[in-house]
Amino acid sequence: MKWTNLFDEVLIEAAAVDTPLARRVCAIFPAHRVKVLDGPASATGGAGSLTVAVEKGAFLRRCPGTPGMICCNLFVLNLGVGCPYGCSFCFLHNYQNQPGIRVYANFLDAMAEVEEAAEDFEGDELRVTTGEFADSLALEELTGMASELIPPFGRQKKALLELKTKSDQVDSLLGLEHGGQVVVSWSLSPAVVAQREECGAPPLEARLAAAQKAAAAGYLLAFHFDPVFLIADWQQHYVNLVDKIFDRLPGARVRWFSLGGFRYTQSLKNVMEQRDSETPVFLHEFVPCDDGKFRYFAPLRAEMYRILREAIERRAPRTPVYACMESAQIWKKAFGSLPAGIEKLGPIFGPFRAGCPSLGSCGQRS
Ligand code: SF4
Repeated sequence: MKWTNLFDEVLIEAAAVDTPLARRVCAIFPAHRVKVLDGPASATGGAGSLTVAVEKGAFLRRCPGTPGMICCNLFVLNLGVGCPYGCSFCFLHNYQNQPGIRVYANFLDAMAEVEEAAEDFEGDELRVTTGEFADSLALEELTGMASELIPPFGRQKKALLELKTKSDQVDSLLGLEHGGQVVVSWSLSPAVVAQREECGAPPLEARLAAAQKAAAAGYLLAFHFDPVFLIADWQQHYVNLVDKIFDRLPGARVRWFSLGGFRYTQSLKNVMEQRDSETPVFLHEFVPCDDGKFRYFAPLRAEMYRILREAIERRAPRTPVYACMESAQIWKKAFGSLPAGIEKLGPIFGPFRAGCPSLGSCGQRS
């Protein structure tokens, strides 16, 4: 990636000027394209801008979930907002009020919050991802943020870092001391979907090659099919992709595999149709759900999850497979049980059972 082509200008918050991240970024961009702001930046800048800011609030929060859906107990480390890729379905189109990208120069301060949360956490494993409001590795060769975070996570006993990405920028991670506490996870779609809906992200083959490098360096892996689009011949496309993954990667190293059917809010639909008036994704029938989102008709979703779960379990029987943001009804049909009844999901969903009286009514994210 040619960073000077990707960003027109770099904005540095005054308080971030004397930080390693700001110095690293400034070394790449010519001085006339770097602007130091007098005070704090109120938000991300305009399209084509990268803002290096200082986070004064908390970095870590529990994934808020979404009403009526079962949540997978993930924690989110918010080290920046925005992404250089242009996936059609990305919820950031609605979430961000400005189109630029923002990163936090004081991101290593987040480790103190992680350590405190891990100490208080009732389960065995506190899963933390940096890939909620940004792609965890899409800017890695520019910022080096993940590479800085890996060694401190490698010294953790209970906290597990998930770097969730559609990127192939893993080279700087390969020699680091990850201590078995870092999961590099890829969001994948069949090539026919990726080409149409994941504009700007590295192609499927590049992501799989990056996953092979990460596996060879001893990292744990995870995969996400989210969103799954019910395109023509979807079953063949997605099941072939499951086989492609496990033909190339050791199933025993895959810590989890999550599935999520395509879903949208009305405002995301408006943005998607504005960006691509020919989009075929709304040709299907969708139904409104309790959380205000539209999803495929429940029997279709249940069938989709069941088929994909079985395809994954054929190749990696011990890998936990779970649905993201789905109802108890879908869980029972597609997985045969709620997560509490599936032993291998214990490390992921178990803390919920310990901490919450009702699986379906707490900690939901949008
Ligand atoms: S890679 Fe993730 S964060 Fe980036 S545009 Fe695609 S969905 Fe959004």
